[in-house]
Amino acid sequence: MSNVKKYVPSDRAQAFLDTVESPKYERNNVNGLKPFLDDRVSENMQGFYSPDELEALRTLKGTERDVEARMPVKMTQHYFDMAQRSPHLRRLVKATPDETKSLAGSEDPGYQMDFSPVEGMLHKYEIGLLYVISTCSAHCRFCYREELISRKEVERQDGTVAKKGLARIEDVTDYIISHNRIVDENDGRHPETGRERLREILLSGGDPMVLPNIKIAEWLSALAEAGIESMRIGTKEMAFFPDRFDESFLSMLRGFHETYPDVGLHFMVHFNHPDEFLEKDSTGEYVENPNGSLKWNDSAKRAVEGLTDLAWVTVENQSPIISGINDDADALRIMQRSLKRVGAENHYFFCGRDIVAHEAFNVPIETAWFTLNESQKGLSGVETRARLSITHYKGKTEVAAVTNEPIPGLAGSENGVVIFKILRNALGAPDRGKVCIVARNPEAIWFDGYADRVLFDEAGLFDYDRVKAERLKAATLPTAVDTEHSIAR
Ligand code: SF4
Repeated sequence: MSNVKKYVPSDRAQAFLDTVESPKYERNNVNGLKPFLDDRVSENMQGFYSPDELEALRTLKGTERDVEARMPVKMTQHYFDMAQRSPHLRRLVKATPDETKSLAGSEDPGYQMDFSPVEGMLHKYEIGLLYVISTCSAHCRFCYREELISRKEVERQDGTVAKKGLARIEDVTDYIISHNRIVDENDGRHPETGRERLREILLSGGDPMVLPNIKIAEWLSALAEAGIESMRIGTKEMAFFPDRFDESFLSMLRGFHETYPDVGLHFMVHFNHPDEFLEKDSTGEYVENPNGSLKWNDSAKRAVEGLTDLAWVTVENQSPIISGINDDADALRIMQRSLKRVGAENHYFFCGRDIVAHEAFNVPIETAWFTLNESQKGLSGVETRARLSITHYKGKTEVAAVTNEPIPGLAGSENGVVIFKILRNALGAPDRGKVCIVARNPEAIWFDGYADRVLFDEAGLFDYDRVKAERLKAATLPTAVDTEHSIAR
């Protein structure tokens, strides 16, 4: 007999769940490369990959460099339609042999699994992250959750190796209730881990918006019953299939708010490029509104305004800066301005993580900083709230400044410096605000690139003892070995 506990909603949660409608959505996904390789895609999708591109991908099938073994191919009809008119969007969803030229990188960037108290949950900060599903409507080639989406095995803290599992409501709520009770009984700190109350939860994956309304509603109500104050839903569905934010979904949110009025709700959306939401004319130019602002496409506008119309919901965008997709100051400027205009905040831009095959996607850290900085020139204060962040295993770190000039008196700073600042780290964020100054290296795409030029490090970002001890096995192919890169990791 199975000893898996079944989730039983409270009477209040059940009354809410009884009101939820869960329609089926027709995303017309293309799943995998096979339909393209076998010439089975619809007529209008033929030609999305050229014969040469398909041949190159076919040759890699079953080898170490098989692109789909790293990250499955998936695309919605809506995204395909937009990608027809956008090389940036095509790069986001189209597989290329270049992706697997170098497979250097980590299956668990940031050592996330060290912070997993129950399956499918990360508890690093005062916010917990839940993997509630292992797929999205479409798949970004640069995905920083490729180990989850591809169902790869990762090493656990106890040395065992297993696929990342998904969170279960009963396990997660039991953990939250128990953690918060122990914290309350011990003057606001957990006696073993030093953590405070778990106040916030991020529903993530994969994309929670792929789940039916009733499943999302179960998660929201169960977490609210467990005492969570604030919830976030991380989603790229506004780009991949904005019609998912329909009346039945909004009605579910309203029902949730009526039942749990004190719980905050935040949508962490993921637009990478303005081509994902702005309308283009037949010449490929953005269409202007009468006042000169740029016109959103109808589906995306309906989706974002459906949420921003709800006064108790916030919408915040976060996006990595990825080579060939959005490493372009003009595109980022248009995106930040257009998002803020409809009520969506610009939260973070990220440097790419050191995921497997990151070398194909990551923009050098300093280039990302200069690109974002350039993009924010001419924007108003409220449009330029986003910071550039890079996730170190110690926590979330801001790339706070890059100088072209030396710092007087600081040896090694002759070619300028990069200043990193810790924004958040585990437990009570003891290192928040601490900085690390390194001499510039315009080629660096990860912290490793600065390991030999650290000038000042009160943040402890280059304390590599632990990194060495737990060094990840970088599966670099013999043709693309970057020895120093692999060793430093
Ligand atoms: S939306 Fe996020 S989780 Fe999904 S494929 Fe893209 S990066 Fe990965």
